[in-house]
Amino acid sequence: MQIVGQEVDDRLFRNAMGSFTTGVTVITTEIAEEVHGMTANAFMSISLNPRLVAISVGENARMFQYIKDAKKFAVNILSSDQQKESMQFAGQLKEEHEIAFSTYKGLPIIEDALAVVTCELHSEYVAGDHTIFIGHVTGVKLSQKDPLLFSQGKYRELKELQE
Ligand code: FAD
Repeated sequence: MQIVGQEVDDRLFRNAMGSFTTGVTVITTEIAEEVHGMTANAFMSISLNPRLVAISVGENARMFQYIKDAKKFAVNILSSDQQKESMQFAGQLKEEHEIAFSTYKGLPIIEDALAVVTCELHSEYVAGDHTIFIGHVTGVKLSQKDPLLFSQGKYRELKELQE
């Protein structure tokens, strides 16, 4: 294990953070009847009563201003068969494909997601080059599927880890 000195190397920091295995979400919102989505794994549950969740969005992402304007967003937790959706909403696909959205609690959501949490913007906190948006949960949907995982810069599945 490398010990991090005072001069924390950016790559070392990224790699260390990337070793924290997460699920993958797509944040969706709507502005002027236009749906916008962004892949995010900086998502966490914050409070049960009231029900609050948090996402962290980079200041250069378009989603940053969209959430500020719309004051609401949905978190679509992706299932193991939705790697393409993750790549599309991270701008990683050369050829984008049509995404099927449906509407739930007044927000666009991704059909066939493992789970969906819809939120009204509760509060926001600037933290360096990201802003943490706290959402007050307005609705929850859950299906019976396996999650898509992201670890050390790669997509993974639970199946693969159990082998
Ligand atoms: P854009 O770059 O404009 O959009 C992203 C992509 O989504 C584009 O290709 C666009 O065409 C497509 N898209 C948007 N709306 C639609 C639509 N309605 N129909 C079809 N396609 C659409 N960044 C963070 O800030 N926080 C995180 O927690 C975070 N986690 C990430 C986790 C992973 C696993 C990955 C791969 C990336 C993550 N990113 C995160 C980076 C982030 O997803 C990208 O930087 C993203 O491109 C920024 O999105 P944007 O809002 O600027 O929108």
